[in-house]
Amino acid sequence: MAHSYDQTNIFARILRGEIPNKTLIETEHTLAFHDINPQAPQHVLVIPKGPYVTFDHFCAEASDAEIVDFHRTAASVCAMLGVSLGDGGAGYRGITNAGGHGGQEVPHYHLHILGGAPLGRMLS
Ligand code: 5GP
Repeated sequence: MAHSYDQTNIFARILRGEIPNKTLIETEHTLAFHDINPQAPQHVLVIPKGPYVTFDHFCAEASDAEIVDFHRTAASVCAMLGVSLGDGGAGYRGITNAGGHGGQEVPHYHLHILGGAPLGRMLS
C-alpha cells in the first residue's frame, strides 16, 4: 500500500514557516532543529523537506541527492553538538520511529539525535 502524507502534520507546518522552531542547520533538502520536549541534554530532529512519512518511504522515493544531503546534515548535527567520536565527543543515539508499533507521533520522517549524557542500553 502506498504511503499517504498528511500535509497538516506539525513538521509540514514547521517547513511551511507556520510554526517557529529552533533551527540548527538548514540545507536545500533538509532541516535540523531542536526537539520541543528534549529527552536528553541534547535532542535534535533531522527531517527531509520532502513529503515522506517514514524511513522506508524516504529511502524508496527520495532522490539520491535528498538521501545524501539528509545523512550528511545529520552528521553535521553530531559535529555541531560535539558528540561525534571523531571530534573526541562521547557519542550519541540516533532513533527513528515508524507507525503505530514504532510509536511515531509525527507522520513526517525524522531522525532523533540524542546525546549529552549516558543514555543506557536500549537493546540487550
Ligand atoms: P516521534 O514520536 O514522532 O518519533 O517524535 C516526534 C517528536 O517531535 C517528539 O520528540 C516531540 O517532542 C517533537 N515535537 C512535536 N511537536 C513539536 C514542535 O512543534 N516543535 C518541535 N521542535 N518538536 C516537536
